[in-house]
Formats: sequence, C-alpha cells, structure tokens
Amino acid sequence: MEVVSDLDAWRHAAAAARQRGRTVGLVPTMGALHAGHDSLVRAARDRGDYVIMTIFVNPRQFNDPADLRAYPRTPETDRARAAALGVDLLVEPSLEQMWPAYPAPVATTVHVGGMTEHLEGADRPGHFDGVASVVAKLFALTGPARAYFGEKDFQQLAMVRQMVTDLGFAVEVVACPIVREEDGLALSSRNVRLSGAGRQRALGLSRAVAAAAAQPATASVLRQRMRGVLEAAGVEVAYAEVVDPVSLRPSRDTESGRRRALVAGRVDGVRLIDNADVELEGE
Ligand code: AMP
Repeated sequence: MEVVSDLDAWRHAAAAARQRGRTVGLVPTMGALHAGHDSLVRAARDRGDYVIMTIFVNPRQFNDPADLRAYPRTPETDRARAAALGVDLLVEPSLEQMWPAYPAPVATTVHVGGMTEHLEGADRPGHFDGVASVVAKLFALTGPARAYFGEKDFQQLAMVRQMVTDLGFAVEVVACPIVREEDGLALSSRNVRLSGAGRQRALGLSRAVAAAAAQPATASVLRQRMRGVLEAAGVEVAYAEVVDPVSLRPSRDTESGRRRALVAGRVDGVRLIDNADVELEGE
C-alpha cells in the first residue's frame, strides 16, 4: 500500500492507476477505522477497483468545536488496517493542503439545497455544506469511477447522490449497508466515547428503527413507535422521522410503500444516528 499526503502525489497516483486501465474506487473516511469502513473497502475490492481511501477529519463539517476536538484519531492502527484490507493508496491530506485558508471561510462552498435543511441539518448548521464541499474536492483530486458511502449516514448519501446528479460528476455512488455490533448498535467512530451504561442506552437507536421496520404502519405511527423506544431507552431524542429515500421529503400518513426511517439522539453527550428501510401502510 502506498501512503501519500501531498495533493500532487495523490492526483498522479490516481492518474497512473487509470492509465494502467484500472477503475478507481474512492472510499472517503475520517479515520478511526472500524468494520463499517472495512465493508466499504471490501465492496470496492469485490468490484476489482484500485482502492483509494482518504482519511481526513474535515473541520468544515464539524459545527461543534468540542466534537471536533474529541473526534478519535488513530493514524497508526488505521494505516495497518487499511494495508491489511488491501487498500492500494491511502491518502492522508493535511488541513493546510485541503483548506489553506482555514479557519477563515473558504471562498467556494458546495450547497445542496432542500434535502439538507432538516434532520441532521436542523441541528448542525453548516455540516452538510462542509461535507458536500469536501466530497466535491475529493472527487476532483481523485477522479474516481466509483465512490463508496455507508447507509449509516443516510442523509449524507442522499445528498452526495443529488450533488453528483446536479454537478455532473462521472462517479457512480455505491451505497453500502449499515454494519452493526451483534446487539444491533450501528458501528461508529464516536461509540468509543460512550460509557458502559451509555452504550446500553445507545441501543435505543437501533431498537427504534428495528421496531419501525418490524411492522408496516402509517408514517405517524412509525414516528411515535420510534420515539417511544428512544425515550424508554433514555436517549435524548433529536428526531424520529420517516422520509422518501431519494428526496428525503417527510412522508404523509396517506402514503404507502418503501421509505426510510431515521433517528438521532444524544447519549453521554455524544450525538448518534441510525436508520432502516421501512414499509408504510397508508391510512
Ligand atoms: P466516517 O469516517 O464516519 O466519516 O465514515 C466514512 C464512511 O463510512 C461513510 O460513508 C460512512 O457512512 C461509512 N460508515 C460509517 N459507519 C458505518 C457503518 N456502521 N456501516 C456502514 N458504513 C459506515
């Protein structure tokens, strides 16, 4: 595995792989790698891609400075893990290279309107602009044919798809299912910040979306069902919503069919999210 941090070296390695006839697959991450990240790399390898993994804790997508400071960073173990997984090129760009002006505002921002205003966007001002801007830059520097994103961050995935359509990136966005612990907790780099008791309470999120997925009902009933499970578990609820999986428009009680149920909440001061595919039964 080759490791680079320099933007030119990164661009050249990606171009060289394309010249050798390889299909470049991009796996963007913020490091503190776990089995969720592994699954994205495996999906890329299964397709035969030249796998470029980026590790960059992007400050522009952190609306909360305390969250940015507390974000886990494990560069040595990440490198070993990426190499063992079969990543071809590991890119660790520095903040100075990615956003030279930071913390001054960067002149160019990518904003995906509408679908980023609610859910995570309601509580995290600027978060999705930070994500869209960095993903656009990663695409520009890498020139991937495919990019792999986890369904764990469902709103992010939907937003990236919209950005790719709107800006005409020649990138196939591949969605990878949520990887969970045996007891259902969705893997997240932030889970290491949970206490033992907090980790138990955090199970409320996966149980809430599992309860919504278990039996079809109207959108309102599913929202109430999820909220009930979250509150009983002791999660400080941010939202429990049912939306169209492409537009992320909240579902009405008259709608039927496959939709996405999403929850977010705080445990031990750590913000956690989860989601699942659900069936709506209109009234
Ligand atoms: P992050 O490092 O948290 O920014 O995540 C990098 C990528 O890994 C994103 O596309 C996430 O959606 C994905 N990811 C994180 N956790 C999981 C998980 N438990 N299952 C599947 N994908 C995940």
